Amino acid sequence: MLLCNFGDLRSETERLESADFRALHLDVMDGVFVPNFSYGMTVVRGFREITELPLDVHLMMVEPQKYIADFHAAGADLITFHIEAASDAQGVVNHIHDLGMAAGIAIDRDTPVSAIRKVAETVDLVLVMTIKAGFGGQKFIPALLSKLEEVRAMAGDRPILEVDGGVNQATARACVEAGAEWLVAGSAVFGESDYSTAHQQLQEAAGMNSGC
Ligand code: ZN
Repeated sequence: MLLCNFGDLRSETERLESADFRALHLDVMDGVFVPNFSYGMTVVRGFREITELPLDVHLMMVEPQKYIADFHAAGADLITFHIEAASDAQGVVNHIHDLGMAAGIAIDRDTPVSAIRKVAETVDLVLVMTIKAGFGGQKFIPALLSKLEEVRAMAGDRPILEVDGGVNQATARACVEAGAEWLVAGSAVFGESDYSTAHQQLQEAAGMNSGC
């Protein structure tokens, strides 16, 4: 949702709902873990008040453990944090689960899959970054999709595999073929005037019947 029109969240959300998108992906950037600053729990709460779509909150921040309860209170359904940012990743996963939310772990572009070994079997989702977290205007790196297979082999069937960064009509198929089940799309949606058409085109490009 980083690229949506923040001046009119209600209308943006309604357009996405009627375009049949399945969840809202909220990128929280703290200006420390990544150079940019985006928004925090207030905006998550704002979305919660206007939609029942699942809120998929991607924390690109240091010390995620400090804010899990706040994001829960704001209405997050799923919280994904970065393995690079957590000294006690299992503790964060447990905290998220204890609050009744789904827990995801994110792997940044330059981090090997082996970094998530200890929590791989306990998370509900693994997010693979195909660009470096927090930097705009980067090219999608197809070679990184091989990480999805590595994750599946390590984590088993449980976690949903999500790809974030540079997903568009040109790259969606490769993501799905590599095992991605959830695709995070930004400019491929918000750069289009008709979100329904954008969703349909993404699904067709990906060869998917649902999801996205
Ligand atoms: Zn994200």
